[in-house]
Amino acid sequence: MHLSSDVALDLIEGRLAKDEETFWKEHLGVCGDCVQVIDQWGQLRADLRRSHLKSATAEILDTVMEFFPQGDEKEARHPCVEATVVFDTFRDGTVANARGAVAVARQLVLRAEDFDIHIKIWGVPDHRQMLGQLLPRGTAKFVGTARFHLLQNGERLETATIDEIGEFHFTDLPEGDLSLQIDLPNLTVVGALNVREAQ
Ligand SMILES: [Zn+2]
Repeated sequence: MHLSSDVALDLIEGRLAKDEETFWKEHLGVCGDCVQVIDQWGQLRADLRRSHLKSATAEILDTVMEFFPQGDEKEARHPCVEATVVFDTFRDGTVANARGAVAVARQLVLRAEDFDIHIKIWGVPDHRQMLGQLLPRGTAKFVGTARFHLLQNGERLETATIDEIGEFHFTDLPEGDLSLQIDLPNLTVVGALNVREAQ
């Protein structure tokens, strides 16, 4: 008999009955596997309590994914939807006059299911950056865990995780046709971004 995740959390948080607690504490004295489970949950709780989640988010996600293997490894089984561009300053022409100016920010809004993805791309070629924010629409709930992959020709160039306000950031965007893949807990969203300047 080994610690389940539920019992491990109860033990860490002191919610177990006294005799149960004594039992598991004795068990931890002789079982390295269960000590590891306790350590991982303890670490996860410590990470979650930190006020600045930014630097810890990737690690937390990895830890969470270990406990919930559905999350990442089986992402291909999730329904996959394509995001549509509902707004693009390049396409919609509002910056037409500024073409050629240095570092004009392009703003895009992609939409898929109950989410809008607001994206800002700026910088000069070879030093382009992208800042995005995943925002729920209507009654959709804010998504706490999401991974963003920057893709070119189907290959992952970079992966970012969401921060506490739903933002993600990519630096050094290459030229060419890029797309964004977003792994949500139960859904994968793919949206095409043409990062080239408008002709
Ligand atoms: Zn054990």
